[in-house]
Amino acid sequence: MKNIILTGDRPSGKLHIGHYVGSLKRRVELQNSGKFDKIYVMIADAQALTDNFDNPEKVRSNITEVALDYMACGIDPKKSTIFVQSHVAELTELTFYYMNLVTLARLERNPTVKAEMKQKNFELSIPMGFLTYPVSQTADITAFKANTVPVGEDQLPMLEQAREIVRSFNGLYGETLVEPKAVLPDNKACLRLPGTDGMVKMSKSLGNCIYLSDSADEIKRKVMSMYTDPNHIKVTDPGDTEHNPTFIYLSAFSSPEHFERYLPEYANLDELKAHYERGGLGDMKVKKFLNAVMQEVLEPIRLRREELAKDIPAVWDMLYEGSEVARKVAAQTLAEVKKSMRIDYFADRN
Ligand code: ATP
Ligand code: MG
Repeated sequence: MKNIILTGDRPSGKLHIGHYVGSLKRRVELQNSGKFDKIYVMIADAQALTDNFDNPEKVRSNITEVALDYMACGIDPKKSTIFVQSHVAELTELTFYYMNLVTLARLERNPTVKAEMKQKNFELSIPMGFLTYPVSQTADITAFKANTVPVGEDQLPMLEQAREIVRSFNGLYGETLVEPKAVLPDNKACLRLPGTDGMVKMSKSLGNCIYLSDSADEIKRKVMSMYTDPNHIKVTDPGDTEHNPTFIYLSAFSSPEHFERYLPEYANLDELKAHYERGGLGDMKVKKFLNAVMQEVLEPIRLRREELAKDIPAVWDMLYEGSEVARKVAAQTLAEVKKSMRIDYFADRN
């Protein structure tokens, strides 16, 4: 069996540091590992429209932003096929056939969709397109016969749904589709990076993000005003590091070398945490260190991004080429799907 990756992001905003540690960083490592036959990276514009249908312009403008974020982080169009979902109409047709293999009750049970419905005030009246996006995500993954999907933790229910549809399809119509597996970040802090406001997830839709494209000043401002432990009022108070986003970000981003460079009085994060937990360490000092770390991590990404942003037509050319390649692959899978279902009527006319 071939080793194929499919991943993607919704162009509902620029990408943030949660995307970086939750998925982008891993994608670049996998891309450069040489262990994969094919890598497809999808800008999920059709999926983004399911909850932004009233604002297609937002989705349109963010396609370029996401493409720039990808390349700035090291996704290389020479090694990975970057494409735009809506250009591949075959995905919609696959979705239509897969829709028969899922019940309404099953879709309504999806915990991520449930949480997102609440967040978007869709609880009383849910657009069908939004409710069924896990089915279209199954089409995206299976169209490319992907067996590996590097994602953040919130995507696990989508992968489970995809595996169910694949099993059901193969059981009914014969072995055709490949069952995908999720690849999660190794570092626990990266599974679901919290927002700067302390909310459980940094999310474009919640406005609690540090973006990969933020200027040095914006990063500093956001870090300095971050939510910490509300019970850590005086410096001498003992503090909590487990639910404190400043420490979670440090777990995700800092290394012993950062301590050597910016905070040499501590050998590593464990020592800093221990001090905060027993009391006597102020939030300001932690935030200053975090700011230094974030600046170091994000500066090269931002500079590459600024360089790439000078030629937007080249970005669209790259996306068009990738989308054409993706379309051919998806068309091949769709033909196999129709053959398995024996609805390829005109193919066997002769
Ligand atoms: P939206 O609010 O529009 O859904 P989002 O910020 O959740 O945007 P997506 O495009 O839905 O971003 O997610 C893209 C990928 O990034 C997924 O694999 C998801 O698991 C991962 N991801 C998103 N947010 C985080 C986060 N805070 N921590 C870790 N991974 C994340
Ligand atoms: Mg999301």
